Amino acid sequence: VEPAHHRDVATRHFVGGKVPLGLKRKALRVLVTGGAGFVGSHLVDRLLERGDSVIVVDNFFTGRKDNVLHHLNDPNFEMIRHDVVEPILLEVDQIYHLACPASPVHYKYNPIKTIKTNVVGTLNMLGLAKRINARFLLTSTSEVYGDPLQHPQVETYWGNVNPIGVRSCYDEGKRTAETLTMDYHRGANLEVRIARIFNTYGPRMCIDDGRVVSNFVAQALRKEPLTVYGDGKQTRSFQYVSDLVEGLMKLMEGEHVGPFNLGNPGEFTMLELAKVVQDTIDPNARIEFRKNTQDDPHKRKPDISRAKEFLGWEPKIPLREGLPLMVSDFRKRIFGDQDAAAT
Ligand code: NAD
Ligand code: UDP
Ligand code: UDP
Repeated sequence: VEPAHHRDVATRHFVGGKVPLGLKRKALRVLVTGGAGFVGSHLVDRLLERGDSVIVVDNFFTGRKDNVLHHLNDPNFEMIRHDVVEPILLEVDQIYHLACPASPVHYKYNPIKTIKTNVVGTLNMLGLAKRINARFLLTSTSEVYGDPLQHPQVETYWGNVNPIGVRSCYDEGKRTAETLTMDYHRGANLEVRIARIFNTYGPRMCIDDGRVVSNFVAQALRKEPLTVYGDGKQTRSFQYVSDLVEGLMKLMEGEHVGPFNLGNPGEFTMLELAKVVQDTIDPNARIEFRKNTQDDPHKRKPDISRAKEFLGWEPKIPLREGLPLMVSDFRKRIFGDQDAAAT
């Protein structure tokens, strides 16, 4: 059997590649840390589909084996239970570094672990990339802009972050991860890419992860009131997961380091989001106001001019189209297949 990296694959799935149609390119060996999570598992689907070999490294803190179960018999797929805070030896061509809890409820659960994951975990993955000369992509976040004083946010904005707040383990952690990534780029000549991801939703999100889209959808399906925090006038911009995966792959294959904002500029207040959820699932769903959490950013919307120009990327799926795709997945997982068919 030929080693994976000697296999040729058809180029038609080669996102952002320069290989002309009809020619073959070498299959890549790709590491996806956090690949059993929400975004990671969708990325793994696409990488395997285009013919590459994928290794997932995940400690299953917020990820689930279920998310990648359909690949377990694929010889090009391998799953390793491992915590990125510990060093690891692997041989790959590319590293997509996603390992880190993303929901505020999850990352605040054990803040010290979160910042270790962001700092030590990212350091380890950069050390690995350096040793094997792999291209490294960091999934950073719009949270690096903190409670932004510029709107919409452009990549040149340095942000407004509370360094000692309850969200700092995540936002300062990601800022440090970006710093480490650039220092390995400059100091060790590593090929790196940085994505700043804005709020993303879709099938396979954890049902009870506390994020607003998963909360509202699960609440509406369970006939519980939608919990709006604060006055509900704060805004977020919601991106469907397949758009994000497309952007991540274009970024990895392209020539530019970034950082690049990857998000959908469609901006909604939480009350507007609740209305979309009512229209999609249950017009009679009630809204209940709750006290907001500390340091909650007031608004967030990506300026994606840079990604449009340099990656030729922009999101295609608006909220009202993406939400129903997520709802059917949640319906199945909450009620089971049979009930879902009946409703
Ligand atoms: P997720 O929680 O579903 O996935 C994270 C995965 O990382 C999980 O499978 C988890 O088990 C794993 N993980 C966590 N800590 C780990 C550790 N120490 N070692 C090994 N594995 C570990 O979250 P997601 O939404 O898929 O987010 C993926 C990445 O994208 C994260 O880095 C997140 O910060 C970033 N991001 C996501 C969003 C979003 O809206 N989904 C927004 C901005 C940034
Ligand atoms: N590292 C790793 N796998 C490797 C190479 C390095 O996990 O294949 C870890 C290593 O344990 C270290 C970190 O990455 O903690 C940074 O490695 P680097 O070589 O850059 O720094 P150094 O080990 O010289 O401090
Ligand atoms: N939010 C809400 N109801 C919920 C969960 C969250 O109104 O049940 C609000 C939260 O206060 C924030 C926004 O929704 O203003 C987005 O929160 P989320 O946790 O999804 O992501 P964030 O962008 O804050 O990381």
